Amino acid sequence: MNRSTATHPTPRGAPIVDEELRRATIEVLRERGFEGLTLERVAESVGRARSTLWRQGLSRDVLFEALVGELAEDFRSTMYPVLTSGGTGRERLVQGLESLCKLLDRHLPLMLATDEAFHQETAPGVPPDYLHPFIQFFHEGARDGSLPAVEDVVSTADVAFNAVAWPYVHLRGRHGWPAKKARSRIVGVVLNGIAAAESRPRAKSRKESEWRQIPEPPRRGEPGGPPCGICDGGTTGAVWSDDNWTLHPPVGGSLPGAVWLASRVHVDSFVDLPEALAADFGRVAARVERAILTLGDLARVHLYRWGDGGAHFHVWFLPRPLGMVEASGMMLPIWEDVLANVTDEELAAAAKRVAAAM
Ligand SMILES: [Zn+2]
Repeated sequence: MNRSTATHPTPRGAPIVDEELRRATIEVLRERGFEGLTLERVAESVGRARSTLWRQGLSRDVLFEALVGELAEDFRSTMYPVLTSGGTGRERLVQGLESLCKLLDRHLPLMLATDEAFHQETAPGVPPDYLHPFIQFFHEGARDGSLPAVEDVVSTADVAFNAVAWPYVHLRGRHGWPAKKARSRIVGVVLNGIAAAESRPRAKSRKESEWRQIPEPPRRGEPGGPPCGICDGGTTGAVWSDDNWTLHPPVGGSLPGAVWLASRVHVDSFVDLPEALAADFGRVAARVERAILTLGDLARVHLYRWGDGGAHFHVWFLPRPLGMVEASGMMLPIWEDVLANVTDEELAAAAKRVAAAM
């Protein structure tokens, strides 16, 4: 008798399903599914005579019970402490999902072989009921406010169960992720996904009058708005200029080498630039980019134009420091805002070096 059967207690007198038989049964399930599970195929897979297994009291039902019955029993005893514990609905949902992961680990070979084990009757005539604890947690969470109130709690529980179970099985079994990492990452993603998806209708219901402001407030340099700082000389002086453009250092910034380029004429956006100026913008933008890159230690030069502040055409050139990949793309202006400012003198000095390289 295989000693490892000690970890799979069977009722007194019931036939023993040893590890070899267990593995063989899982192998048949992998190839044939539950429909194709027969004692004959298990016997063939394990290299023993069907009649020998039969004489030991083994049957398809006994093999089935050894896997699915034990899964159901393990599920009940795993969820019992969670169902009887305290805490908010959300806390219990997290505990339930994490316990589900631990359960899956104990039955990983079966889970990797078939995704239908949870669909089987847990005893003859007893339909599976694995969602029940999760439905309860969602109900409780909605009541105590720790989880969003969902319209269809059964399908939400179904999503939570399956969205945790199968990625977990895959990352554990096929990617070899450590259990703790797989558990915390997947449960975290599923919880946040559910909270985000279910809270969207609330955001949608925000009244349009609360966020729409029509007419929009006038911008600097726009009729009815404050005067144009660029035309009025209210900005930093140009460190470089030609017939069409002026180049300026910023103030209160954190990225030396940042500059902004303005048109000499007071026009608003690209659509307002005379065609010759629009064409010339490409030429001058390339010069500014090249000049900034001469400062060195930079990965790229970003161009940003929003136009929400002032109505005088200007484009920002921001150098992204080499290796600062977390500031890629749209993150750079955010980092620029968050990082400690350097002095305006330092920004002006860097801009002058850019100007000298133009
Ligand atoms: Zn202007």
